Amino acid sequence: MTRKLGGGSLVIATHNAGKLKEIAALLEPYGMRCLSAGSLGLPEPDETGKTFAENALIKARAAAEASGLAALADDSGLSVDALGGRPGVYTADWAERQWFEGDPGRDWYMAMGKVEGLLSEKGPDVDRNAAFHCVLAVAWPDGEYAVYEGKCPGTLTWPPRGTLGFGYDPVFVPEGRDMTFAEIDPAEKHAISHRADAFAKLVTDQFNS
Ligand code: IMP
Repeated sequence: MTRKLGGGSLVIATHNAGKLKEIAALLEPYGMRCLSAGSLGLPEPDETGKTFAENALIKARAAAEASGLAALADDSGLSVDALGGRPGVYTADWAERQWFEGDPGRDWYMAMGKVEGLLSEKGPDVDRNAAFHCVLAVAWPDGEYAVYEGKCPGTLTWPPRGTLGFGYDPVFVPEGRDMTFAEIDPAEKHAISHRADAFAKLVTDQFNS
């Protein structure tokens, strides 16, 4: 049986204010007081893991050790079957515009184009199955931890469609739908996403069992 959070303070190991707000809204009904790693001035560790779970744990453990409080971190990305699971933990890196010096930032169209380019090299009948993954890790200062893996299966389409969402949403068609994540109403996306799946598993295990 995993250790339970049982209310109290929880450090959310993110420096992204939007993510903190979203996670806090999900966990506050269960008596959790969510603090961000950014507001506590905690350093961001390097994400050196080879899996989403390893990276989520690296971030959660670093925040728990530095704060002395329980901490929650997530790691997410896209894995494409025909590419052996790539881009995987490098999902955000594939959008990095490293060759434009002095012009940092991410180019999602470039990243989607890179995936499509690699797929089309494999011919017109290539397997277009892919999945978004989200792993949540909870770590306690004494080293105990729990991991929850969420997944949203689907297929990749080309060209990109839709203006909602972010990242690779315009090329991802979730299983059972015709629209991409960037065409689907955000509330509906949030109900079926990899993140929703991971949070449902966390809430069931931590607060409803
Ligand atoms: P991280 O978990 O913040 O490291 O993000 C990993 C990357 O995965 C993001 O930068 C996005 O490109 C991609 N990603 C994760 N979730 C989604 C999603 O719901 N839609 C589109 N892209 C996503």
